[in-house]
Amino acid sequence: MARVIEVKSILNRHRKRDDWFLDDYSINPYYGCSFNCIYCYIRGSKYGENMEKTLSAKINAPQLLERQLGRRAERGEYGIILISSSTDAYQPIEEELELTRKLLEIVLKYRFPVHIVTKSPLVLRDLDILKEIDRSAILPRDLRGRLKGGVIISFSISTLDERMAGIFEPGAPEPQERLEAMRKCRERGFFTGINFIPVLPYLSDSDEELDRMIKTAKDYGADFVLVGALTLFGKGPSDCRTLYYKVLEKYYPHLVPKYRSLFRIFPVPSKEYRKSLEERAEKICRKYGINCRIAAGEG
Ligand code: SF4
Repeated sequence: MARVIEVKSILNRHRKRDDWFLDDYSINPYYGCSFNCIYCYIRGSKYGENMEKTLSAKINAPQLLERQLGRRAERGEYGIILISSSTDAYQPIEEELELTRKLLEIVLKYRFPVHIVTKSPLVLRDLDILKEIDRSAILPRDLRGRLKGGVIISFSISTLDERMAGIFEPGAPEPQERLEAMRKCRERGFFTGINFIPVLPYLSDSDEELDRMIKTAKDYGADFVLVGALTLFGKGPSDCRTLYYKVLEKYYPHLVPKYRSLFRIFPVPSKEYRKSLEERAEKICRKYGINCRIAAGEG
């Protein structure tokens, strides 16, 4: 049984809308994440090496959201809410607690649009509420006409290789399950896509792998594909950079020097690497006629 905690705020308002995910707000029903992805940027001393051990449910989240979202709705400050940015709202504990579901009921009541980002098919449980949100949410003025409805559902995948996914995302559902879940969302009429974020350098970033990933997304009905590079933060024992290198040394020791050179100074790969990844992904998306951005007409 996970710990429960009380928090002071649940709705985070961003200073600026996120260019990729289009969110103006975010909600994280849980603190920590039992999917335990090695590359997860929230890692660090706060969460520890095994984030399942520090996983906590923000038990007063529904009361807080009722208040905070009610206030935003009164002022007409509509914007897309990302669920979630630093946890997975559909990790196994959600099955029992239904905390995310309770939050969605409040989101529906105040007619806010949402972008669900997950690695879990458990989101399928909530398609009934999400359908109502999709129909009734009020989009921010500048996104009207650029999005079909009030719900975006995207699934994050870093590799299609099941073994590799097991190494880098040890607690998460298999990529195939995520693809199947996306297909079901699409069949139910949702606007949906795949976040190939992070693409793993020298492991899932070749032209062939990108082609395979984008083609697969298209075959499973994705409306869009986002492709993004890996970031590696921190030097502490539980930071993702430290843990990622540990995994490389164990499973892919030949890649360690290449990574050291790619992440020489900054937590992001070199500018050339990022530019090449973006250009190659865009080219392949054009080849398969799939959007590499969520909303048409984006700058
Ligand atoms: S699912 Fe997301 S939040 Fe959870 S460990 Fe993986 S990257 Fe982090």
